[in-house]
Amino acid sequence: MEHANHCISCTVKSCAHHCQSTDYCSLDKIQVGTHEPHPAMDECTDCQSFQKK
Ligand code: SF4
Repeated sequence: MEHANHCISCTVKSCAHHCQSTDYCSLDKIQVGTHEPHPAMDECTDCQSFQKK
């Protein structure tokens, strides 16, 4: 099983970096960013380390 980074909780099971058996990311670090010019709510932010499984 991939190493679960307990500092990064994540429920995006369609990501290649998700641990699948547990809701954590397997990366040592992730990049968070935004696709909005003026982000105002959580929907405005993105995990830019996401990779399609
Ligand atoms: S890279 Fe981002 S979306 Fe993918 S498992 Fe890690 S935190 Fe979740």
